[in-house]
Amino acid sequence: AKFSRLSADDYFNGIRAGDRMILSRAITLVESTLLTDKAISDDLLERILPFTGQARRIGITGVPGVGKSTFIERFGQLLVREGEKLAILTIDPTSSKSHGSILGDKTRMDVLSKLEEVYIRPSAAGSALGGVANATREAMLLCEAAGFTTILIETVGVGQSETSVRNMVDFFLLLMLAGAGDELQGIKKGIMEMADAIAITKSDGANIQESEKARISYQNALHLFPPDESGWITEVLTTSALDGAGFEEIIGVINRYYEHMESSGRLSALRNHQKIQWLNDLIDYLQRRQFLATPGMKEALKLQEQAVLKGTTSPYKAARTLVELAWNV
Ligand code: GDP
Repeated sequence: AKFSRLSADDYFNGIRAGDRMILSRAITLVESTLLTDKAISDDLLERILPFTGQARRIGITGVPGVGKSTFIERFGQLLVREGEKLAILTIDPTSSKSHGSILGDKTRMDVLSKLEEVYIRPSAAGSALGGVANATREAMLLCEAAGFTTILIETVGVGQSETSVRNMVDFFLLLMLAGAGDELQGIKKGIMEMADAIAITKSDGANIQESEKARISYQNALHLFPPDESGWITEVLTTSALDGAGFEEIIGVINRYYEHMESSGRLSALRNHQKIQWLNDLIDYLQRRQFLATPGMKEALKLQEQAVLKGTTSPYKAARTLVELAWNV
């Protein structure tokens, strides 16, 4: 609150000059739901757009405890050694305090957080997913305009967030544990289909054999899925963030993926798809925001929810009543 207000120009110049403080404030700005902030952030996004799109956009997901942060800590150092400037954005729908996770992420990625080539930014937690997803996409664009060459978006694999992330990245990496319950748990089918590569984590010591078995079994299971439209075949690898096993291979897979996508214009088709997805997400988000801001909507929503629960009205009829209320204002 002590900061003086910045104009879209100030943000733009700061971001293009690589000023991390301004970048952080710009990300806070795009996360804000205040209308006065929205006016500036819409302006800013419009201005930075021509300077976006040059980075590799990579999503990483997996259940809590699978080893995401340990993986990224190692993977990120490898990328930096290859000359990348790395921005890491994290989405954790389960964490409720963003300040807690800022500190948490700093300590979770101890080495990375101290590197000059690396920028780590946790998402605004606690807001509705649609808002978080849009804010993350906009944060990614701001990072691109700031000159980062690889954007990693880390998301906890619990439900909808990975689908949103899948739609904003080029390459989607799923981390999995060997021998965690059944080899192919029901929930994993959908998400496995979204993955461009699967890394079995913690493949070290006594886990190596189990991991290798899991790798073969996942690879076989993937053969049952139809290949994706680009013709890319999901690869499964074993990795250890302790001894580095599999990390050079992951980089190799990603490089091969980009070669595959860059040939015959598939990458630009994918980027176009991301832009249209962005538009559609924004329509949904703005529409829902306006819907919820309708005077009297809170009360009306509660009434209709109760009626639906009591069975005195159908969800369809309730939804129509509420939408009509929003439209008629
Ligand atoms: P996240 O919740 O997915 O971010 O998982 P973390 O990165 O915090 O890792 C969860 C636990 O697994 C921690 O205790 C790590 O030390 C451990 N771990 C992570 N990667 C490896 C690995 O490659 N090998 C072994 N043996 N343990 C690992």
